[in-house]
Amino acid sequence: MHSELSRLVGAEHVLRAPVESPYNRDSSRRRGLEGRAEAVVLPGSAEQVAEVVRWCYAHDVPIVARGGGTGLTGGAVPTGGGVVCSLERLRRVRELDPALWRMLPEAGVSTRHVQRLARENGLFFGPDPGAAEQSQIGGNVATNAGGPHALKYGVTGAWVAGLEVVLAPGELVEVGGWAGKDVAGYDIKSLLIGSEGTLGVITAVRLRLLPAPEAAQALVVFLRTRAEGCAAIAAVRAAGLRPSVLDFVDGETLAMLADAYPGARGGERADGARLRAQAGFALIAEVDGTRAEAQAQRRALLELLAGAALAVDEPADAQALWRWRDGINGVVTGVRGAKVSEDVVFPVERLAEGLERFEQIAARHGLRSCAWGHGGDGNVHATVLVDPSSESELDAAEAVGEELFALVVELGGSVAGEHGMGWLKRGRLQQQWSPRAVQLHEQIKRAFDPKGLLNPETKLAR
Ligand SMILES: Cc1cc2nc3c(=O)[nH]c(=O)nc-3n(C[C@H](O)[C@H](O)[C@H](O)COP(=O)(O)OP(=O)(O)OC[C@H]3O[C@@H](n4cnc5c(N)ncnc54)[C@H](O)[C@@H]3O)c2cc1C
Repeated sequence: MHSELSRLVGAEHVLRAPVESPYNRDSSRRRGLEGRAEAVVLPGSAEQVAEVVRWCYAHDVPIVARGGGTGLTGGAVPTGGGVVCSLERLRRVRELDPALWRMLPEAGVSTRHVQRLARENGLFFGPDPGAAEQSQIGGNVATNAGGPHALKYGVTGAWVAGLEVVLAPGELVEVGGWAGKDVAGYDIKSLLIGSEGTLGVITAVRLRLLPAPEAAQALVVFLRTRAEGCAAIAAVRAAGLRPSVLDFVDGETLAMLADAYPGARGGERADGARLRAQAGFALIAEVDGTRAEAQAQRRALLELLAGAALAVDEPADAQALWRWRDGINGVVTGVRGAKVSEDVVFPVERLAEGLERFEQIAARHGLRSCAWGHGGDGNVHATVLVDPSSESELDAAEAVGEELFALVVELGGSVAGEHGMGWLKRGRLQQQWSPRAVQLHEQIKRAFDPKGLLNPETKLAR
C-alpha cells in the first residue's frame, strides 16, 4: 500500500501512523477515541486527492478525509482503519475578488486565514467556530460548522456558492458556482455540506462573502435565574432585534469562570465575587452593522434587558471577552479532570425546559452539570463533569447522554447542532428522523458511495 500511494503523491507525503500519531485522533480524544490508520496520505493537489481516492476505491480501502482534526465527534478518526487523506497541503487561495465579495480557498486553508483575508479586504466571513487557527475551511464545510455569529449570519453552508469535490470512484467534480441564482438541478452542493467526509472529499470551496460591518459592540447581561435568562432570549426575538450573537452561560458555568471575567478586576458593575454569588445566567450579546445601526440595536437591547438584569457590562476590550468565552472548555474540563459535553439543540421556546430537565437528569445520575452555548439558536453544549479515572462516572455520563438525546427529540430539537455526528453519535439520526427519511438518507449515501468506503463508520447506522 505505502509504495503504491507513494507513487501517487511522493514517498515523503505518505506517513505511517503509529499508535501515538495525531492522525489517529481528533479533538474528541478526551473521550478516549483512537483509531488506527494503515497509512496517512498528504496529497499536494486536488488531482492527487482524486488519484488517492481512485486507488483506495479500486482496492476496497476505506478513506477518511481529514481537515484540522478539531472535530469533537470523532469524524476524522480512522476507527475502521484504512487511509487518512489529510488536506493540509491544499493551502492555496485560488481566487480573491473583493469587488465581487468572493474567495476560493482550497480545502486546507485554515478558518482563521479565511477570516483574516476577508477582513484585510474589507469583507467578512461569518462562521467562527472556536478552533479557527487549526480547523480548515474544508472541515468547516464538511461539518457545516457554526459558532456564535451563526445567529445572524448562518452556518458555514450559508456562505458556500460551490464546491470542488472528489467523488467516488475518484473523479474531480464541480458543484454549484458563482451564478447568483441556480435552481437548475437538485441541490447536490447542499448534500455535500455537512456530509462529514461520507459522500466525497472536498478540495476547494467557493465562498460568497459580505462587506465587513462598520461597527460591533458586545454586551454581557447578568441575570438572576435561568428562567429570566431564557425569557430574555425570547424577548429579544419578539422585539424584532437582530443581534449578531446571543450566547449564554448558565449559573454553574459562570461560577467556574467568574474570577477570570475580564470585567471582574475592579469593575463595579460586573464585580466577580458578586456575580458568582448572585448571577444564575449570563447572556453574551453582540450588535453590529453601520455605526448608527449598531448603536440603535445596542440601545434597544439595553432598554429591553437592563431592567431585569443584575448587571450589564459593555466591555471595552471585546477580544478579552471572547478569550474568556473561548476559555470555557479548558476551565470546565479542569474542574474534575474531564467533561462529557454534548452539542444539542432545543427549540428556542423550550430552551428553559430543556436546560432544567438536563440538569435534573445529570443530578439523578449523581453528576454535576453545566451548560453554555448559542442561546439565540437554542444550541446547547450540555456538559457533565467527570473524574476520568472513574469507570462508574463515565458510565453515568453515557447514561445522561442517552436520556438527553431522548429529551431533545421529545422537545422537537436536534441531536447535533454544529459539531456533526461523527463516530460518537453515529446511528442517532434514527432517534430524530422517521424511518422513511432515514432510508432516503442511506440511499443517498449509496448513490454517492456504492462501496461504502468514504468514512464508513461516521454519521450513519451503528
Ligand atoms: C476548542 C474547540 C471549539 C470549537 N468550537 C466550535 C464552534 O463554536 N462551532 C462549531 O461548529 N464547531 C466547533 N468546534 C468543532 C470543530 O472545530 C468544527 O467541527 C470544525 O469545522 C472541524 O474542522 P476540521 O478542519 O478540524 O475538521 P476535522 O476535525 O479534521 O474533520 C471533521 C469531519 O469533517 C470531515 N472532513 C474534514 N475535511 C474534509 C474535506 N476536505 N472533505 C470532506 N470531509 C472532510 C472529516 O472526515 C470529519 O468527518 C470546536 C472545536 C474545538 C476543539
